[in-house]
Amino acid sequence: MFVNLQIKNDVQLVAPVDSCCNCGSTQDVRMEATDLRRLPLFGLAGAEIKIELPFPYCSGCVSSSQRRRPTVLGIAAVTALLSLVLGMCWIFFGPQFAEEKIVTIVVPMLVITSLCIVLGFYGLRRPSAKQSSFYQPVKLRNTGHQWPADITGLELAFTNHDYGKKFADANRTAIAAKKLKVVDA
Ligand SMILES: [Zn+2]
Repeated sequence: MFVNLQIKNDVQLVAPVDSCCNCGSTQDVRMEATDLRRLPLFGLAGAEIKIELPFPYCSGCVSSSQRRRPTVLGIAAVTALLSLVLGMCWIFFGPQFAEEKIVTIVVPMLVITSLCIVLGFYGLRRPSAKQSSFYQPVKLRNTGHQWPADITGLELAFTNHDYGKKFADANRTAIAAKKLKVVDA
């Protein structure tokens, strides 16, 4: 069984719906909108591209449809915030040091500690045994455009190789017309 995927252009795509696109399970699978985004370089230059496509998820993987991968900019922002909080704690509860020592030792130490906590937190987020990804199992790798904003092509990467293959098989026409590219994530 297939479902039509709606995109704001003439790219006609269908998604196979009978198995979970993350773990491959065929139990209790339902379609869930997956908000795919392609961020501009370093989150700075250019516009973010957002496409919402429904893909099938089982009950164990449905939450992964909403989990976008952390970006460098996001990690930097959380680290900065945590450093600030730790810095406040130091001011109120920490020992008194000369200003010079604070700038050369305490501040770098707080930033490094914060970065370790943040990276440690993301490092602990792992997929369950059957899952192919803790985060969204579908990535928007690239988009083709016609000026100004019509999307004329998509490159999708799947963390579940088998589902990616099924998706590619179901959309052979779009692939032949160079409107779709399917790769392994
Ligand atoms: Zn699943």
